[in-house]
Amino acid sequence: MARMYYDEDANLDLIADKTIAIIGYGSQGHAHALNLKDSGMNVIVGLYPGSKSTKKAEEAGLKVSNVADAAAAADLIMILLPDEVQKTVYKQDIEPALKENKILAFAHGFNIHFGQVVPPPEVDVIMVAPKGPGHLVRRTYEGGEGVPCLFAVYQDASGQARDRAMAYAKGIGGTRAGILETSFREETETDLFGEQAVLCGGLTALIKAGFDTLVEAGYQPELAYFECLHEVKLIVDLIVEGGLAKMRDSISNTAEYGDYTRGPRIVTDRTRAEMSQILKEIQSGQFAREFVLENISGKPGFTAMRRQESEQHIESVGKDLRAMFSWLKEK
Ligand code: NAD
Ligand code: MG
Repeated sequence: MARMYYDEDANLDLIADKTIAIIGYGSQGHAHALNLKDSGMNVIVGLYPGSKSTKKAEEAGLKVSNVADAAAAADLIMILLPDEVQKTVYKQDIEPALKENKILAFAHGFNIHFGQVVPPPEVDVIMVAPKGPGHLVRRTYEGGEGVPCLFAVYQDASGQARDRAMAYAKGIGGTRAGILETSFREETETDLFGEQAVLCGGLTALIKAGFDTLVEAGYQPELAYFECLHEVKLIVDLIVEGGLAKMRDSISNTAEYGDYTRGPRIVTDRTRAEMSQILKEIQSGQFAREFVLENISGKPGFTAMRRQESEQHIESVGKDLRAMFSWLKEK
């Protein structure tokens, strides 16, 4: 069993005397900045001039400056920008501020692992990656709990990098839930694989295929929506609570028998072979190259796919249905 670390394993003092710059104030940025501040840390937020987030951060009581000034003033710089803009901002505003004993931190290993950001040897390079979206990182912290995190060291210039990473994880509430050690490579590859094959890519493809099959066979789209999309949450909640077994205990025997006999016909040996192929493209850097080039060229494919997906039948059916159910909105 991999070891989990908790509050008592981490020492906040290691970063308490430091100035921490949170670069970016989006999903993760706002949560890290506010949690660290509430943990008593000295936080500044780095944003580009004119950012819409400036007002929000200032209203929350945070000090805000431009990225270059924040990076220059800080001992620990946590980069919470979208992965595809990190390289440019790093080169322009962060790299010039790096010097001995500073700490460069990330919440995902992409830019370090794929060589987009190459830090100088005299700084610590660490990762603290919450395994949940930013609003949950903030909400659980406010409730006295936390979101589990992964942590890793890429470069240990000070001899303290690992303890500093654990301290940071404590500051955002991660050690309340438990943190797990990994490497930049492992976090990057498993994170990309999970979101592509299962969580985002796999799941949305499965939902759409199920919905389309029922609608094309002449059933009401509203029913297809409930069966193939809405109920996913109910099933997943049970699986997360108590594993596959708990879910199978709660469903009917009819559903359980259908699960065992039909599921393997949906995810077949061909699907598994394709998953392996997707993992190889991640490991070889092929996916990273494709994503980097897509962004450099101005996202033509990304933009087109976003539009096409938003035009899917399941999206308009869902929008109308959700508007009719007030109990869904209240949640
Ligand atoms: P986000 O898109 O929510 O926020 C990014 C922030 O950067 C925003 O404040 C935005 O205004 C700012 N920004 C955008 N473009 C910019 C530019 N060109 N120059 C300066 N600032 C710019 O991003 P996020 O989802 O919080 O992701 C941040 C990091 O955290 C990424 O490395 C991501 O992989 C990682 N991460 C995200 C999640 C998640 O659930 N969202 C979970 C774990 C790790
Ligand atoms: Mg991810």
